[in-house]
Amino acid sequence: MALPRIRILATGGTIAGETCPGGDITRYRAGVRPVEALLTAVPELGALATLDAEQILSLDSKDMTPDDWLCMLSAACQALADPAIDGLVLLHGTDTLEESAYFLHLALPTGKPVVLTGAMRPADHPEADGPANLLAAVKLAASAEGVGKGVLVVMNGKPHGARHVRKARTSGLDAFESDPDWTTARPDGRFASLARAPLPRVDILPGYAGAPAKLIDACVADGAQGLVLALSGHGSVPSAWEPSLRRAREHGVAILRASRCAGPVIRNANADDDREGWLTAGDLPPPKARVALMLALAAGWDSATRQTCLPTF
Ligand code: ASP
Repeated sequence: MALPRIRILATGGTIAGETCPGGDITRYRAGVRPVEALLTAVPELGALATLDAEQILSLDSKDMTPDDWLCMLSAACQALADPAIDGLVLLHGTDTLEESAYFLHLALPTGKPVVLTGAMRPADHPEADGPANLLAAVKLAASAEGVGKGVLVVMNGKPHGARHVRKARTSGLDAFESDPDWTTARPDGRFASLARAPLPRVDILPGYAGAPAKLIDACVADGAQGLVLALSGHGSVPSAWEPSLRRAREHGVAILRASRCAGPVIRNANADDDREGWLTAGDLPPPKARVALMLALAAGWDSATRQTCLPTF
């Protein structure tokens, strides 16, 4: 029987990283090794799938931008539209992996498996985790288990759904977690038919003791079309922010209440969202709520329908 055909799209990250000259293991450059070298390091892949690979970006994912998301989306759409391709694996830095994964989860057509993976140790580390992660990702992308769950992430032997995955720890191989686990993951793809256009600017503003309201005015003056407020507690808006937020709404800027806690932020609880015209993030963390809002704005959803791209509580 023919092996499944899997396309690998490489974007850089620590999985393609190399230790800086001098050998200090804590200092390395991400996104250095080409994808061909990463594949050659895992000869077992040949028994799982027929692979072809494309180096679409070579970035440390801390530098990933929304334009880079669109670059990934376009390469992924092209691969998934090819009847010869059975599944897709994206190699990505771990820092912003959950943002890219959720963006693709909302924007890609559903059907074929799409799996993102990365590494916590660079490729030249004596106990690099990249090869095992790559192997696990290809295995999942080539399997029936990877179908019908939307975009998935595999790290340290564990699959996660894009909706709930997050990088929870700065170091260690077990840096990623998700709750509930991936077996409950469902496909999304609600923005799959969106025409490719630059994504509108949406900024995230943290709430903290003494956070200045001037930051809101500065973001609006600088062109933000949406603001995600990463607030304390149950999405609690500081009283001092209210005039600036009202001015922002008068300029047509979308305002979304999210929390720096695990959530949820419930509509019209703790704030009069209906009266103010604010959106609420439900249990989406601020970076993922931002992704959903950017897509809703890009799709031209009006303020009445925008809330439907966010989980409701
Ligand atoms: N800074 C790196 C990146 O996100 C970290 C990693 O890949 O683990 O590309």
